[in-house]
Amino acid sequence: LKENNAKHMWHPMAHPGGQQDNPPAIITGAQGVKITDIDGHETIDAVGGLWNVNLGYSCDPVKEAISNQLNQLPYYSTFAGTSNDAAIELSYMLREFFQPEGMGRAFFTSGGSDSVETSLRLARQYHKIRGETQRTKFLSLKKGYHGTHFGGASVNGNNRFRTAYEPLLPGCRHLPAPYAYRNPFNESDPAKLTQLILQAAEDEIAFQGPNTIAAFIMEPILGAGGIMVPHETFMPGMREICSRHGILMIADEVITAFGRTGDWSGSRHWGVQPDMMCTAKAITNGYYPFGACMIAESMTEVFEKAGPEGSIGHGYTYSGHPVGAAAAVACLKETQRLDVRVNAAARGTQMFEGVQRLKEKHSVIGDVRGGHGLMTAIEFVSDRESKKQMAPDFGAKVAKVAYENGAMLRVSGANILLSPGLVISEAEVDTILNAVDAGITAAG
Ligand code: PMP
Repeated sequence: LKENNAKHMWHPMAHPGGQQDNPPAIITGAQGVKITDIDGHETIDAVGGLWNVNLGYSCDPVKEAISNQLNQLPYYSTFAGTSNDAAIELSYMLREFFQPEGMGRAFFTSGGSDSVETSLRLARQYHKIRGETQRTKFLSLKKGYHGTHFGGASVNGNNRFRTAYEPLLPGCRHLPAPYAYRNPFNESDPAKLTQLILQAAEDEIAFQGPNTIAAFIMEPILGAGGIMVPHETFMPGMREICSRHGILMIADEVITAFGRTGDWSGSRHWGVQPDMMCTAKAITNGYYPFGACMIAESMTEVFEKAGPEGSIGHGYTYSGHPVGAAAAVACLKETQRLDVRVNAAARGTQMFEGVQRLKEKHSVIGDVRGGHGLMTAIEFVSDRESKKQMAPDFGAKVAKVAYENGAMLRVSGANILLSPGLVISEAEVDTILNAVDAGITAAG
């Protein structure tokens, strides 16, 4: 099996025959927040699948819902007027769930990249319906991650996910990230940095022409790019700028929705109502590939009133997949019943404080980020003064030893990103912290 894995499978984000930064384990089982590999080694999954297994791997109501749905109706499309009860129930539940964000309808997709693509397409179509055909450009943030489709790649803020695929969508511009540790302004105060980025946004919009920009997309807390928590004034500031210029605001909540940040959405932390919210991941907890692009009530009205012109040429074979929808309904019920926000916030604080203590102990830790639920990053530097980043193999070494000590970590460049399931216990968070500590000691 190990040989075939190396020979026949091309892993995401990796060289064909190569391994990723994570320990090259073949995972054969999972319970609670733990995974077991082919050698019988059990570890806490500090990655939470891929930021998505919020409820852990033993969520019986979700398994039951999937099994029941498979027996009742395994598949039928939601094209051309046909529908299914699970998808209908889910759209109603999501509308209620995201009522504070002002969301109206749910457009169902097969995952995060699809949800992002849907939002970008709907943004363009929205402006066309309103006669603003020139609004085609997109703004986003450096360090932002928005998936792998060409639209998503165009708004991705990391060159690694862009350059090989160019030419991408024209007119996509990336504003500086709310990354106080490193930024082009050398400004470490988050509130002051926010003012500088908001000004950069104003300048960019003026330069491009305000009425040429369709939408601005951002993660309310940046995830894959290294867990950057913007200052509380940032997203509201961008909301105000977008509204003033008629630019739609898309919140990419693929990671942040459904409790991970200690609230039901990232936008809710900042009191922002976006025009669209991209969701996926925890919507089905990893039990089934699924996603939803939520569209604000105010925006759907424009499509509704447009008559035949409001009809869109966009959709997926698996939009509203009954099994995915049934899994999502069960996940949402369980997510609310357990109110996973509470544990995410408490265990998130424990993890953030624990990592800050590690920073006092290990001089290779240059920056720690988090403090909003279970999203915590550690950035390694070879020298705190110059902030020179450690080579990525340092993180890989940390991860290898941490794995042996009971925690599977996610390495991203010179960063380690921690995002375990939201049902994790206090003792399990301590195990992760001890494993990271052991990893850094060994790698250093
Ligand atoms: N947006 C964000 C914020 C993400 O983190 C991801 C995946 N990590 C995506 C979009 C893409 O989702 P998927 O991998 O399900 O296509």
